[in-house]
Amino acid sequence: MKLVALYDIFGKMPNLALMKLSTYYKNKGYKTTLCWDAQPPDASLHYASCVFHHPRANHALAMLRSRLGEDLVTGGSGVDVGRTLAPEIDTCFPDYSLYEWSRYALGFLSRGCNLRCPFCLVPEKEGRLEENYATFDDFVPDGQRNVILLDANLLATGNAYALLEEMIRRDYRVNFSQTLDIRYLTAEATALLEQVKSVNSRFTKPMYYFSCNSAAQASLFREKQDLLRRLGRDKITVIVMFGFDKTLSEEYAILSTLQELHLIPFLQEYMPLPGCPPQPPDNYFDLDIDRIAQMRFRTNGRNNEKFLSFVSQRYFETFGQYYLPLLEARYRYNSKRAILRYLSDPSLVTRRKDRHFGGQAHPPRREVSRQPRHAADG
Ligand code: SF4
Repeated sequence: MKLVALYDIFGKMPNLALMKLSTYYKNKGYKTTLCWDAQPPDASLHYASCVFHHPRANHALAMLRSRLGEDLVTGGSGVDVGRTLAPEIDTCFPDYSLYEWSRYALGFLSRGCNLRCPFCLVPEKEGRLEENYATFDDFVPDGQRNVILLDANLLATGNAYALLEEMIRRDYRVNFSQTLDIRYLTAEATALLEQVKSVNSRFTKPMYYFSCNSAAQASLFREKQDLLRRLGRDKITVIVMFGFDKTLSEEYAILSTLQELHLIPFLQEYMPLPGCPPQPPDNYFDLDIDRIAQMRFRTNGRNNEKFLSFVSQRYFETFGQYYLPLLEARYRYNSKRAILRYLSDPSLVTRRKDRHFGGQAHPPRREVSRQPRHAADG
């Protein structure tokens, strides 16, 4: 029997495109096999899918390409946002047996988004919002109640309320993996969401996910705090992207609003995609840096530390020294001894904020060559 090799490059969850390809080729009489590394088996067809743009993924793909040349077909957001599955493949029910997977089902009910956030590849990859793209029956196996939804902006769809009602009726436990959009949170949506069993990605506890990427959105969270409160205390995580186009005071405003509203921030660094606009503005440090150093996060999660590392590194690149209170905040809980690497060279660190940045006026910018992150930042 002819074999189709399906390569999951750097996947963190079962790859939907590969599972659909598996069904498609099995229906045509092929055998399919899942490959995790760059060692190709003797197969008739080779498909690789990569969802994330990451140096390790790029390396794995380059290795595969060097071995398979033109025989390798690649796709996924990490490779080519323009390439999509042919309709006859895209409509296949995912072959969960490819991953021997039964923990949850995953899929889309809608595709695309009508908004145009500059950091987001959804509009380019999926186009304008397409409602009724699929139904639960198109990707949820009989008896499965755990569902991960990949929809970019489910609440923006015209049939969002009907879909929420269906989740309630089917008694699904749903993870809104791409987050809910606060702009579309109405009283009616809230009343339905209250009844949906919305959970974290491990399906271990109730959790709703939203995202907040601007100070304007943070004000919406404040405006809609009564609705949010109805979803339950400690049951709302808000994804906050840092390192894109916000100044430090804007990032601080978002984080302090979430803190005030008892929402759980989950900080995520912007990962530039080829051709995407970069990076924080030149006047990034427009806030007294001690406000950040003195912040206390609800958890000591690694993502908070990544944010502090990011600010710390950028401070170094801007002013030529690391600000010690910021390093102390970064290494307060985990990897405590790693701070010693900075302290071993006193010229690298300063505790004298006023020497660089008094928090009132922005100091003159020093030209410092961009250096690799300190090894201690991992
Ligand atoms: S609303 Fe969400 S999905 Fe739509 S463009 Fe913005 S970030 Fe992307």
